[in-house]
Amino acid sequence: MKSWVEISEKRLTANYQLLKNAAGGDTAVLAVVKANAYGHGAAVCAPVLTRAGAPWLGVTDAAEGACVRKALTAAGIDPKKQPQILVMSGPLPEDADKLLSHRLTPVVWQQEQFVWLSAAVTKHNSAPLPIHLEIDTGMARQGVAPGEDLSAVLQWLKNHTTLQLDGVFTHFASSEVAASPQTLLQRKRFEQAIAQIASSGLRPTWVHAGNSSTVDNQGTEENLPWLRTLASTIGARSMVRPGIALYGYCLPIESTNASTPPQPEIEASLQPVMTWKTRIIGLRDIHPGDSVGYNGIFAADKPMRLALLPIGYADGLRRELSASNTRPGGWAMIHGKPAPFVGRVSMNLTIVDVSEIAAVSEAAAVSEITAVSEIEDLALGDEVVILGDGITANDHAHLANTIAYEIVCGVRASSQLSA
Ligand SMILES: *Cc1c(COP(=O)(O)O)cnc(C)c1O
Repeated sequence: MKSWVEISEKRLTANYQLLKNAAGGDTAVLAVVKANAYGHGAAVCAPVLTRAGAPWLGVTDAAEGACVRKALTAAGIDPKKQPQILVMSGPLPEDADKLLSHRLTPVVWQQEQFVWLSAAVTKHNSAPLPIHLEIDTGMARQGVAPGEDLSAVLQWLKNHTTLQLDGVFTHFASSEVAASPQTLLQRKRFEQAIAQIASSGLRPTWVHAGNSSTVDNQGTEENLPWLRTLASTIGARSMVRPGIALYGYCLPIESTNASTPPQPEIEASLQPVMTWKTRIIGLRDIHPGDSVGYNGIFAADKPMRLALLPIGYADGLRRELSASNTRPGGWAMIHGKPAPFVGRVSMNLTIVDVSEIAAVSEAAAVSEITAVSEIEDLALGDEVVILGDGITANDHAHLANTIAYEIVCGVRASSQLSA
């Protein structure tokens, strides 16, 4: 195996508990495992989150939902005690059968979707299919707008018994912004939608809103007490939907003005869950003037020892972590010490400088380093940490000018559980 991911069951469980406590009250936590659990492996993480107590899991599409359902059963979790699974991206017609056969709950908001799903329920003579209706409160992404459009949807649902309104939800566009006017506007629109549903007579079991940053950024807005109160007006239970925080990361809270300083609630206590590892497949010494990798963007100015790693951008290791003589790049952790990248990250190979970790040569070791006994020797096959303790997804994100979400989602390696 060229590279693999180890998932800390302990940390994933601890992050779930932290989120559950921070959500407060009787607010439930839907654990988002979409996008293959943000690159962590949904089949590995879903059973851990189930054992931690998650009543709901969120997946990308019906195919991923089917995989998660099978993984829960394979992990020995009684089908009757499995969490409900929300399919978070809107369905296409061919998804209907999978939704029914794997007991998945679709997110819907358009007439076409109601028609496809309703036809499948009729065809299979199934019990009414529970659905979650998304309300568009200001992202123009998924969801029906409050007002006329929502009225038409509610009328459709009242006229058909094939679909059952199990949940209503919305998604905030700026949850990491303290005292965000956009969030306040979205709250108002969601309140309007809930009032419309209440007067339609429909009674969903769940009302949900909020992601990781909503739980982290409670500040003066108090979005979670607001959500609980709103859910109770319609006799529903409230729920939040954290994703990235389960895996140990959270966006920094942005402050719009000095009177509302960021007050992160959970960020400092989250623990990264993923350790992405590879192994050394080559070791060599180079001389001053030797250049390294494509285009020779790095050249040695002293004797160096390099280690070759069988990992590259094809595995999701960002090319922006490349290092030239003028721009330092990423680093790996070897035997607990940083090994800086040198040269370009290539498709399947990356080179790191291990001069500080292993003796460059007898002569260099004697002249430059006095305590030779402190030098650990490296060997082919030694483990290397690409992401984990000492090098985080935030470090990668900073170098690649993106967010930790994109870094972890981009990791292409199989996962296994560790303690
Ligand atoms: C991805 C997603 C979430 C989780 O977001 P995080 O920022 O990872 O916590 C919650 N709700 C919806 C609708 C999403 O698409």
